[in-house]
Amino acid sequence: MEQKEFLGFKKSLDDKKVTLVAVSKTKPAAEIRRFYDYGQRDFGENYVQELTGKHAQLPEDIRWHFIGHLQRNKVKDIAGFVHLIHGIDSERLLKEVNKQAIQHNRTINVLLQIHIADEATKFGFDENEVQDLISRLDLFPNVNVCGLMGMATLTGDEAKIKGEFERLHELFLLCKRKDTAHNWDTLSMGMSSDYQLALAEGSTMVRIGTLIFGARS
Ligand SMILES: *Cc1c(COP(=O)(O)O)cnc(C)c1O
Repeated sequence: MEQKEFLGFKKSLDDKKVTLVAVSKTKPAAEIRRFYDYGQRDFGENYVQELTGKHAQLPEDIRWHFIGHLQRNKVKDIAGFVHLIHGIDSERLLKEVNKQAIQHNRTINVLLQIHIADEATKFGFDENEVQDLISRLDLFPNVNVCGLMGMATLTGDEAKIKGEFERLHELFLLCKRKDTAHNWDTLSMGMSSDYQLALAEGSTMVRIGTLIFGARS
């Protein structure tokens, strides 16, 4: 996107109080810098090494979102600076994030990833697992659970996508009611192809790559 188009897009989301995470994976630092200069501060990456490299080169006030599948042995590499980890998909990973947060003397914001799609390859908790986990979050005092993240099935069937986002929104509201110890304010759902459906179903945060940066090679 060029500047004018980007600012219009960003404003349409700001008006709905939706946070735009610009997914910059595979894109060079110079491209990120261009959108930074347009005022964008939230960027998403899905590989730890790529994220740490870009973090070192780019301004300190960028809020870095880790949106990929996070391996436990890599948590330490991002624990000092990451703004929000979207893909917490196991209790063991949550435990490691809590441990590294303590080591870095900070609290780390996280989202619990929910498996809503048909695809067997997508990571995350199911509806029962997540409710069980949120009853035990006091075991992890240095993580701040802000909400849920999910990815819909890759399909052209809009009714199906809509149904998945709707279920995720309902689960979010249920968790928010149950876990009064945390400030549940973030529902991360929607990518380039399905963000409009996600917004209609209550998303508060969209993760957009291709639409902003163009296709990834
Ligand atoms: C790559 C990615 C996105 C962005 O995808 P686009 O289709 O390029 O908008 C969003 N969320 C996750 C988890 C991703 O890995």
